Amino acid sequence: MEKQRAGEATPPNFIRDIIIKDLKNNTHGGRVITRFPPEPNGYLHIGHAKSICLNFGLAAEFGGICNLRFDDTNPAKEESAYVDSIKTDVRWLGFDWEDRLYYASNYFDRLYAFAEELIRSGKAYVDHLSPEEIRRHRGTLTRPGTNSPYRDRSVEENLDLFHRMRAGEFEEGACVLRAKIDMASPNIIMRDPPLYRIRKVRHHRTGDAWCIYPMYDFAHCLSDAIEGITHSVCTLEFENNRELYDWVLDNLDVPARPRQYEFARMNLSYTVLSKRKLVQLITEGHVKDWDDPRMPTLSGLRRRGYTPGSIRRFCRRIGVARRDSTIDVSLLENSIREELNRTAPRRMAVLHPLKVVITNYPENRSDSLTAINNPQDPNAGTREVPFSRELYIEQEDFMEDPPRKFFRLAPGREVRLRYAYFITCTDVIKDEASGEIIELRCTYDPKTRGGNAPDGRKVKATLHWVSAPHAATADVRLYDRLFKTPNPTGDAQVDFIANLNPDSLKTLSDCRLEPSLGTADAGQQFQFERLGYFCVDTRDALPGKPVFNRTVTLRDTWARIEKQMQQKKKPRKKS
Ligand code: ATP
Ligand code: MG
Repeated sequence: MEKQRAGEATPPNFIRDIIIKDLKNNTHGGRVITRFPPEPNGYLHIGHAKSICLNFGLAAEFGGICNLRFDDTNPAKEESAYVDSIKTDVRWLGFDWEDRLYYASNYFDRLYAFAEELIRSGKAYVDHLSPEEIRRHRGTLTRPGTNSPYRDRSVEENLDLFHRMRAGEFEEGACVLRAKIDMASPNIIMRDPPLYRIRKVRHHRTGDAWCIYPMYDFAHCLSDAIEGITHSVCTLEFENNRELYDWVLDNLDVPARPRQYEFARMNLSYTVLSKRKLVQLITEGHVKDWDDPRMPTLSGLRRRGYTPGSIRRFCRRIGVARRDSTIDVSLLENSIREELNRTAPRRMAVLHPLKVVITNYPENRSDSLTAINNPQDPNAGTREVPFSRELYIEQEDFMEDPPRKFFRLAPGREVRLRYAYFITCTDVIKDEASGEIIELRCTYDPKTRGGNAPDGRKVKATLHWVSAPHAATADVRLYDRLFKTPNPTGDAQVDFIANLNPDSLKTLSDCRLEPSLGTADAGQQFQFERLGYFCVDTRDALPGKPVFNRTVTLRDTWARIEKQMQQKKKPRKKS
């Protein structure tokens, strides 16, 4: 069983309160058994992570267990590749279902027997109305439905027809098995819902064994009962289905009596989480695949540089709500930034290189300077970085004709190179044809080694740099939010594709990095000083030629929002 991690208890929420009460009243014999029930028709995303953390987290907290169950009742859309990716992602997030890997399709025999039991007790019938006629008989929110002419067939006739459905005697859509409940129920879901439909489609696990498949509302509650689930936690869109969940379990002889509880689905700003839309992004080529680092999938986030701990912490921070809300994506970004600030080694990398020649530094010589690996972590130690006559700095750290507030390098001005020396710009070399600045000539002050002047003189800027002959070369991918609007699907008049951010990926192909970064391992994470957090791509990097993905920038918009909220809360001083 997944052990509760130190400091990772689920903060109070209404489902947790229900479990505490149930344990006190011994409602489920003192047991807590939850499940995470993905449909294997896509990759898991950050919304699923919330459900995983909740289900596995609650079980762990109360000494219970959590099952992984594939809800594979729809043969048309499901694939075993999705099953594998889901298992990988749940494990990566840090949760363990041990030997409790289940499939709803494992229960097809038992579900079929339960359906026969309902027919025998007169609570289900085979309906020969066409799908269109069934729709017309259903009624509306204000008008009750009407009974099907097939509703009162005898038990024997229904059993025979159901067996023949299974034997493949009818075509798809020719008939369905329906629960016999109440066509006038105010809850439309209760108006004789379908329980089994004919689908002459191969299933990725059961092959051609079945040509009838149970509906979600029939399969889910019974799978829960078969597994002895105590608390069946799902999202709010199933609130109206709870009445049917209870009806099925109350009208059959089931081995356990689970209860369904709904919480609000997580929405994230600047993000879409519907699997249908994620599939569209891939098939239309807006992103490369499910694990594109711009995707909100767990595989995309992982490749982007998110850690399991940062995602679990995010899920704890957003809590569990009863009503839908949208979470600011900057809170997710903040959770990884906070972690990497503590853990990621600092390195220097120049993304847009501008050559600098130190004219008073001897040719063919180099220096080794000591740099701090992580000022947040005293145990991270130091490293040596080479310095030489030819360096690169960032193009945007130099201006020939700087405005008043630009404090970085300019002609005649002195700045500090981090961990190295003070340098002063003496000349600007331009390309004759284009007028573009291609090189700077500078002098350095050997007495400022380590970055401080013995005479106490100050400079206004510290720049990152790399030694040109020593530097590694790499591609760096600057990822940004995939959508440019906070609610990409919010406007029914505008296709969400139109809200894609055209600048969500910029690839820089001639970046110069500290030498050690040339051999960094896939997945390794760094802070590039002054630029952001980056990791080595796990898919495209070649040995000796890494590709770096930007995880997040250093700018923390969430911290700013929090500060503003705190300032608003403070009582105003009376004037
Ligand atoms: P989609 O509607 O995009 O296809 P889904 O909800 O059908 O997604 P499932 O595979 O059925 O995907 O989801 C498995 C579990 O994850 C369900 O219990 C579901 O409620 C939960 N889940 C899915 N999306 C979210 C979300 N955005 N926030 C919280 N829980 C979610
Ligand atoms: Mg679903």
